[in-house]
Formats: sequence, C-alpha cells, structure tokens
Amino acid sequence: MKAYIRLLLLTKPQWVRVYKYGLYATLNIIFGLINFTLLIPLLNILFGTLGNIKSAPANVPNFSFNLDYFKDLFNYYFQYVVSEYGKYEALVFVCIIVVLSVMFTNIFRYLASVEIEYYKQSIVKNIRNILYDKVLQLDTRFFNNERKGDLLTKFTNNINEIEGGVIATLAVFLKEPVSLITFFIVLVSISFKLTLFTLIVIPISGIIISSFTKKLKKYAREGSFSFGNILSILDETIVGNRIIKTFHSEGYMKQKFEKENDKFTHQMLKLNLKSELAGPISEFSGVLVVSFILLYGGYLVLHNQSELSASEFVTYIIIFSQVLRPAKAISSAVTGLQKGLAAAERLLELADEPIHIKNTQNPILIQTFERDIIFENVSFAYHTDKVLQNINFVLPKGKMIALAGPSGSGKSTISDLIPRLYDIQEGNIWIDGIDLQKVDIYALRQLIGVVSQDPILFHDNIYNNILFGNPSATSEDVMQAARIANAHDFITQTENGYQTIIGERGVKLSGGQRQRISIARAVLKNPPILILDEATSALDTESEKLVQDALDKLMKNRTSLVIAHRLSTIQKADNIIILKDGKIEESGTHDELINLENGLYKRLNLLQNI
Ligand code: ADP
Repeated sequence: MKAYIRLLLLTKPQWVRVYKYGLYATLNIIFGLINFTLLIPLLNILFGTLGNIKSAPANVPNFSFNLDYFKDLFNYYFQYVVSEYGKYEALVFVCIIVVLSVMFTNIFRYLASVEIEYYKQSIVKNIRNILYDKVLQLDTRFFNNERKGDLLTKFTNNINEIEGGVIATLAVFLKEPVSLITFFIVLVSISFKLTLFTLIVIPISGIIISSFTKKLKKYAREGSFSFGNILSILDETIVGNRIIKTFHSEGYMKQKFEKENDKFTHQMLKLNLKSELAGPISEFSGVLVVSFILLYGGYLVLHNQSELSASEFVTYIIIFSQVLRPAKAISSAVTGLQKGLAAAERLLELADEPIHIKNTQNPILIQTFERDIIFENVSFAYHTDKVLQNINFVLPKGKMIALAGPSGSGKSTISDLIPRLYDIQEGNIWIDGIDLQKVDIYALRQLIGVVSQDPILFHDNIYNNILFGNPSATSEDVMQAARIANAHDFITQTENGYQTIIGERGVKLSGGQRQRISIARAVLKNPPILILDEATSALDTESEKLVQDALDKLMKNRTSLVIAHRLSTIQKADNIIILKDGKIEESGTHDELINLENGLYKRLNLLQNI
C-alpha cells in the first residue's frame, strides 16, 4: 500500500481534477439513484396500488436541502398530475423524469471519466518522464549490472500495469465507496430490517473473493521479471544477429528463448487464471447474497405488508442489484491493484536507485583547461578485484599520451575515469590542481571529447548525429566539422545527404564512415581534451588512413589521451604508458621504450611487425 501512495505522490497531485471528479461522480450517483427510486411510483401505478388521489396537495413543499424535500417535491407534482390529468399521464410524467435523469446520469458519468482520464494520463506521463530522467542520470556502473530487457519492461509493461492497476483504481476508490454508501442510505430508507440483514450476508462474499486473490501480486512480480528476460534475449538477438548467424547458434538461441517463454507463459497462466476466478466467484457469491435477500424480503412482504410493500421490495432488489456493481468494481479494483502494486514496486526500485556519481555541494565550475591532468597513486576496482593499481602519470596541456598494453590491462578503465564515468577508490586525479571529484561534472565533461572504437550513433539523420556534439552550432559549422573529419564527401553522396537516416547505431554506414561522423561530432564540440579509445582498430587499412588523417587534424593543438592497439599509430606520442595487469609496466617516448632491453613495448612492437 505504501508503494501505491508513494507512486501517486511521485508527481504533484492535481487536486482540482480530483475535486471535479468527486463532484461529477457524486452527481452521477445522485441522478442514478433518482432513476431507481422513481420505480416505486411507477410500479404503484402499474400494480394499481396507488389508491385514489382526488386532488393535488395544497402547497408546494418548503425548500430544504435534504432527501425528504426532493421526495416531497416529486410527490407534490406527481399527485398533481394524477389528480389533474389521470394515471396514464402520470406514467408519462414519471417516464419523462426518468429519461431526463438518465441523461444527466450519463452526462456526469462522462464528465467524471474525462477528469480521471486527464489525471491518469498526466500521472503516467510524469512517471515516464521521471524514470527517463533517472535513466539519464544513472551511473555507468548501473548499466553494467542491469539487463536492458528489464529496464525496457519497466518502461513498457510495468507502466501500463500501473495505468490499469494502480491509477484506474484511484477512480474506483474515490467514487464507488460513495455510491455504496448512498445506495445503502436509500436501501435503509426503504427497509431498515432488510438492509441490516444484507449487511450481515455481504461480507461473506468479500471474504471468499479476497482469499482467492491473495497471491496475485507475487505472480505478477515474477511474470514481469520473466518478461524482462524475454526482451533481453530479443535485444541480444537483434544486436547480435550476425554473430548468431555466423556461429549458426539459432538453435541455441531458440532453446534459450523458448525456455524463458515457457516460464513466462506459465507465470501468466497462473496469474490470469487466478484473476479470472475473481469474476465468477464474485458473481456467484453475489447471487447467493441476492437469494438470501429475496427469501427474507419475500417473507417480509408476504407476512408484514406495512413493513415492506411489493413495489418497495421490487425497487429494493433493483437498487440492491446496483449495489453489486460498485461492490464488484471495488473487488476487481483490488485484484488490479495487486497486479499494479507489483509493477509499482519495480518502478519505485528504479526511481530509488542511488546515484553515486554526482556533484559535491559546491562544485567548482571549470571553464577552461590550463595546465594538466595528474593521476596520483590511483587504484580502482569495478567490484572487489583491483583492475588498476598505483597508477601515476601526468597529462600536460597540449601533449599526447598513449596507453598501450595487452587487452584487459586497464586502458579503457583509465580513460573512463577522466570524465568520471566511475569514481576511484584510492589515490587522486587532479585537473589543473583541483580534485576531480570537486569539479562540476557537467563542466568537466564539456572539456572532454571521446572517440571510441565503436562509434555510438543514434537512429537519426547524419546532421543531427553530428549536431549532438554542440546543439547550438549552425549548419555551416556542422558541414565544416564534417569536412575536417573527411566525412563531407561521402555524406553528400548518400541518398539524402545530411538528412539521410542512418539506421539504428548507424548500421547503414561502413565502420570507417561511422567513425568519421563521430569524429565530426567531436570536432564540432571542440573540446580541449580528447580521449581516443582504439578509434582506428576496427577499420581496414584504406579507411584507417582517412580516419587517421581526420584524427590528426582533430588532435592538433589539443591534449589527448590515446589508447591504441596498433603501436605504429602512437609512435609520435609525447609519452607512451605501457600497462600490464592494471599496473604501469614502463613508460617513455617511443625511442626510449624501443631501446629497453626485454621491454614489453619492444616485444609488442616486434610481434606486430611480424
Ligand atoms: P583494456 O582497455 O586494456 O582492454 P579494460 O580497462 O577494458 O582493459 O579492462 C580492465 C579490467 O577490468 C579487465 O580485467 C576487465 O575484465 C575488467 N572490466 C572492464 N570493464 C568492466 C566492467 N564494466 N565491470 C567489471 N569489470 C570490468
């Protein structure tokens, strides 16, 4: 229940809508009741139990705001019509009022649902926005652990369930108790004894229903987790479809998917069969209750006409059948709520996910990069094992530092520490003498441009993909950046030039073209510090030349940290740091390292030359 309230309060409640909904819903209930209470005079006319009304009452009743006044007012006009015009005309009179009140009932019902729909959609929209903001802020570390499918389920299924389960029930909980109470007031006014009897039998059906719906939440939670796994497998299949085909792993993937699908189906079956039970059971127990009432009410009519007349009893039964509707609505809302709560808890988990990498209280806004970046005794672990130990180096302004070494030695990890994608556990990183953790993260990242081995492009046109580097740039700037990155020529040759949509992750382009677009993006951003993480290693020699040339232009007059697999590309670096198992093995210029007897750099060079 806590999750329910928190979810509703996650966004600012729109009280005006709630009040308006309350007003319309109440009017809807009142007009609804008028319909049914009018049945008594209607039946009296038909049963001929009206007696002889000779003349209209002398006075119109005095106004007072209660049920009796309206009853008296109706009776006044009713008797007036009967005495002046006759019984059939009175029937017409009653029918006209019934039609009018049914019309108003439905107008107010619609107005109430308009209010609640606006309210519902605005809550769902806000929840989506809040969660997306959260996803944007979450630490990189979070995405290493969280499965994509799980996150997607939260955004799709779980939000739908919230809409259907949690928020829709809000309307029920606001309206139906009021209509239940109003119905009961009318029922009591018709027959107190019979209503007392009803109140004793109803809870029995409530107990039966709730005993069946208890486990729904647990099933719903398991189901939603399982659906996340299905989406993850689907996502892996889409992203990795080439690998799956070339390794001929369709069978393996199919088996994996079918296993998860079976599990999900099983959970959904359990969940839905249970919720389907709620309907028949509540209907059956409802009829059971009605039969008891029929027996007892019939007994009263047969033996005690003054207590309850036949037309009152018929009306009573009809109104009581209306009581079942809100009672049913409440019971199915409870069922929906159980499912929705499981979703709500999952969404709140995401909303509550702590963010570790954030600004300190008064972060220092650095606008420019003036001197150097210094790693001082830096150690770092993703989990428990240290992947970097005692790293010390200086990256002075305007210089190029290269990181090399076997894969898994910690090169990418170092490059991720500079824009603070992860925080270090030991040591310090300084930028212009300021502790990196005290610098405003966004200002820091503004100073850094990254070009990585796998250029991340978005499913958008080429122009917007470059503009991502600096959204305020002009189209002239974008083209200029593309020219510097050796990309302008091939872009203009694509189908729609800069407006060509490049497909998810840029699949419609070659590796080298993608890389040059990501370089154009970096050029447009124009950051003083550059991080190149194996930017050319995935390319063939031909496109490597074009990309390398673009990179050289990009690196000119900038400070850069270059991770390279191919050592030939870093020979001109001012300092080459060779890493091994997370430690610095050796460092120096190409000439210094190549002359080191038995040095790792020398050996790696030899291997590559062969
Ligand atoms: P390199 O770039 O030199 O190939 P990395 O910096 O990528 O090396 O990796 C260094 C070590 O950290 C490796 O042992 C790798 O398995 C581990 N590692 C890298 N990324 C993660 C991660 N997101 N979570 C856990 N361990 C990681």
